[in-house]
Amino acid sequence: MGKLNNKVALITGGNSGIGLATAKLFVQEGAKVVITGRRQEALDQAVTEIGGDVTAILADAADISKTKEVVEKTVSAYGKIDILFANAGVAYFGPHSDITEEFFDSQFNTNVKGPFFLIKEAIPHLNDGAVIIGNTSIVNQKGFDGTSVYTATKAAFRSLSRVLASELKERGIRTVSVAPGPIETPIYGKLGMPQEAVEEMGAGFAQQVPLGRFGAADELAKAVLFLASDDASYVNGVELEVDGGLSQI
Ligand code: NDP
Repeated sequence: MGKLNNKVALITGGNSGIGLATAKLFVQEGAKVVITGRRQEALDQAVTEIGGDVTAILADAADISKTKEVVEKTVSAYGKIDILFANAGVAYFGPHSDITEEFFDSQFNTNVKGPFFLIKEAIPHLNDGAVIIGNTSIVNQKGFDGTSVYTATKAAFRSLSRVLASELKERGIRTVSVAPGPIETPIYGKLGMPQEAVEEMGAGFAQQVPLGRFGAADELAKAVLFLASDDASYVNGVELEVDGGLSQI
């Protein structure tokens, strides 16, 4: 018997990295899973890779007009939602002095505004006792150079989840976050930085991690499974760091 038998999970950004690894694990644990992403080809590939009960929806997380459709399609495919993993996110770095309004808005739209309104749309369609899981980052507990906008988006989401844990308490809905440290995923190829700079930054991160390495997407997925399952039935409002100890030392 799987840990998520007959549960319905909506995972944004499920065609790559942490979202994809989580979708695979959830299906293995008996869940019916809906994934979203921006690239149809990547979604099709992910559906094949995940196997089992999975549906893909092409939807840009930053496009608020799509949130209703995403929720409706999920509910019409599998019924009411038990797990909402707001995972889709982008990361772009640069010194504070170089930040433009467009740069700021594009990250806030995807990492904060999109999930904010998706959650709002989804709440009436969540089962009582459901769980909302955000994918934040340990950056919001540190002060890494060049991450001002990205860090602010993750801090905003972390704060939102505290409020929702209170506002949704009558329905027994838990709201938590997983905060990854450096995790080996395709996100590092999308930063818009030269490969050499990415490698240098990555080596710097790894050096600071007490375990001395990047984490794997699978290691994140296992933590998300814990938060999503009954094993975490008394875990609410928290942000769980999965970072090899980076945020603690
Ligand atoms: P990936 O780039 O591998 O995955 C990101 C996923 O989000 C993709 O499926 C991508 O879809 C989707 N996505 C991005 N923007 C949008 C959008 N506007 N609309 C819909 N989908 C979108 O990166 P990760 O797996 O590493 O990242 C997942 C989350 O983990 C992010 O929120 C990130 O901030 C967070 N995180 C990652 C860390 C790491 O070290 N990897 C560390 C801390 C936090 P598509 O490919 O179609 O664009």
